Amino acid sequence: MTTYFMDDQFTEREGITISVDDRGYYFGDGIYEVIKVYDGELYTAKEHIERLFQSASKVKMTIPYTEGQLMEVARELIARNGISVGHIYLQVTRGSSPRTHQFPAPAVAPVVMAYAVNNPRPVAAIADGVAVKSVEDIRWLRCDIKSLNLLGNVLAKQEAYEANCVEALLHRDGAVTEGSSSNLFGIKNGVIYTHPATNLILNGITRRVVLGLCQDLGIQLEEQSFTFEEAFEMDELFLTSTTAEVTPIISVDGRKVGPGTPGAVTRKLQEAFALQIPTSIVGE
Ligand SMILES: *Cc1c(COP(=O)(O)O)cnc(C)c1O
Repeated sequence: MTTYFMDDQFTEREGITISVDDRGYYFGDGIYEVIKVYDGELYTAKEHIERLFQSASKVKMTIPYTEGQLMEVARELIARNGISVGHIYLQVTRGSSPRTHQFPAPAVAPVVMAYAVNNPRPVAAIADGVAVKSVEDIRWLRCDIKSLNLLGNVLAKQEAYEANCVEALLHRDGAVTEGSSSNLFGIKNGVIYTHPATNLILNGITRRVVLGLCQDLGIQLEEQSFTFEEAFEMDELFLTSTTAEVTPIISVDGRKVGPGTPGAVTRKLQEAFALQIPTSIVGE
């Protein structure tokens, strides 16, 4: 049995009903977060919950809880579901109301749902690296919002999967932006490049952790985008996300990145990242 958080209470998944008038269902009118759990403990949860509130504010939604209350919900889900390594999924929709594009007036209560799942670290991908496929970035111009409206991301991921790749390398007007659910980094002559945190990408929490690690390790980093053509010339490429951590990219469109194996700078960052999480699970 899996316990969810829904309608202000902890409840079994089987007993949950969703209104057919939910604006998340009609419009993708909502926001979400994914928070990693290591050894039963939340990782960078404050940053994720802060970003949820920022996303809410950007789409003019009010979350009917405090940051502390959401943190408590997350902890309770971990306890009730016996989560060791996995993640919390948390989403808020604008609520349920007969379909009209404009916001319901008077406002209706937002629908807050959260669950926790066990999900092992993707150790094989982290060790061996993954293949990506280039896909044109056709998403809207507010990619900085972690919105439920993910059709552009879904289509990009599917295109990658159909080419036997695990992620899309998105590019807009020639510049590499990010992945469909991850941030992208390129390394050339020891310098790391990544798209600046503008409206064209989601500023990942793992991305921010990596920026901090670069500083700690004295690795030169430029928050500057690189072009689609330059991606093929990089010595190393990697992607980051809450679940993927730091995953090397070993090929783009079937062309090898460097020698086609994870590079030394990526390895160094992976080691530093591993030091941030509980040591008992690193060797898993
Ligand atoms: C969530 C997400 C990421 C990664 O963010 P993390 O906070 O590191 O998990 C990157 N890009 C997109 C489009 C995302 O939705």
